[in-house]
Amino acid sequence: MRTLSFLTLALAPLSLVTAQGTDAVKASARAVIGTLTSPAFHGRGYVENGDGLAAEWIAQQYTRIGLKPVKSDFYEPFQFNVNSFPDSLHVAIDGVRMVPGIDFIVDPASGKASGRYTLVHLEPDDLFDPERRAMTMGVLTGQAACLHFPKTTNADTLHKYAEIERDLMHYCPVVRPSHGKLTWGASQEAMPFPLIEIANAALTDSSVAIDLRIQNKLIGRHEARNVLGHVKGKGKKWIVIGAHYDHLGHMGPDAMFPGANDNASGVAMLLSLAEHFAKNKPKMNILFVAFAGEEAGLAGSDWFIVDRPIDLGKIRLMLNLDIMGTGDEGITVVNATARQAEYDALVKINDDKKYVPQVKSRGPACNSDHCPFVKRGVPAIFVYTMGGITAYHDVLDKAETLPLTEFSDLQALFRDFISTLK
Ligand SMILES: [Zn+2]
Repeated sequence: MRTLSFLTLALAPLSLVTAQGTDAVKASARAVIGTLTSPAFHGRGYVENGDGLAAEWIAQQYTRIGLKPVKSDFYEPFQFNVNSFPDSLHVAIDGVRMVPGIDFIVDPASGKASGRYTLVHLEPDDLFDPERRAMTMGVLTGQAACLHFPKTTNADTLHKYAEIERDLMHYCPVVRPSHGKLTWGASQEAMPFPLIEIANAALTDSSVAIDLRIQNKLIGRHEARNVLGHVKGKGKKWIVIGAHYDHLGHMGPDAMFPGANDNASGVAMLLSLAEHFAKNKPKMNILFVAFAGEEAGLAGSDWFIVDRPIDLGKIRLMLNLDIMGTGDEGITVVNATARQAEYDALVKINDDKKYVPQVKSRGPACNSDHCPFVKRGVPAIFVYTMGGITAYHDVLDKAETLPLTEFSDLQALFRDFISTLK
């Protein structure tokens, strides 16, 4: 957030140039995000080769910008197992059809189920009391378990719920109302039966039956690629700028998860910084890494640490960019408490230049691609934006509604920050 003062007004010609520059940064980010979230990329997941197409598009951008490959080409291939839902999903409660992604999601580890199932309504005691549990399990065969657990935000209780759900998925389809908004994910494994999370009031304790046609496809050794390109600076040290380009793909043909904020916005920031440093030679070498497989459990960054395309000991800092699309409430720096000097530098630049409303410090968290680096002792931080829209891991995380409130200011903050690293 750049505040206008009498000084910037006095320097009108200069601020005009700056305004044009920042508009151009935001406009090209819009173009990148619009492209990566378009149906042609299928949500950059595991149906219709969505993630593979995104990798190729990003490599084309590297070529256009003038980045150089580290290996023989821009790709760093690897494999992982992942569950997918290429076929259409049918869910109806007492004959009322539910819309995929809006009225329901299937748990990412869901298996298959087909036919009409009678709903067996269960309270926590039916499953947590050992004697009643034995009786409950006896009546579930051939039916669907409908869980009526009290709403909670307590992490331990939610964990207990998740464990019992996972256990039930060995025996029968499981249905439950959502604990909050519908938030999808990815899974490297598949259970025998599905878990269906229902969003609205369609599911009550007097619901009788559910019709299901759910078909999963567990992809063994899915081929994925990180996309690596670099700009040479001086010396032997590296700055690694990372952003994952994969997202959740499709939950059946009708529900696409576009992943505009998560993380087409981060890829847009990575490409924007790459364009800048390709034209303005940096002090240190910079490696740009568009990671694959993040949503399936940090598979791409895990592989980078194993494969070591560059000497990990020479990495001055890994900067992970994920969720760059808002910023109304500033940014959070994960692992700031372990990288105090880098955090302080970011705060100082921001205090001087008034780029974003707040640079918030957060401790270590294994919630994105910086984590495998941190575990290996490589200095790393993760920056995400705060405020604005709340769409996340759902069908509403769209390019059209992503505000990019602080995108240009954030790009300038990163540029300044990278230039100060020694
Ligand atoms: Zn993400």
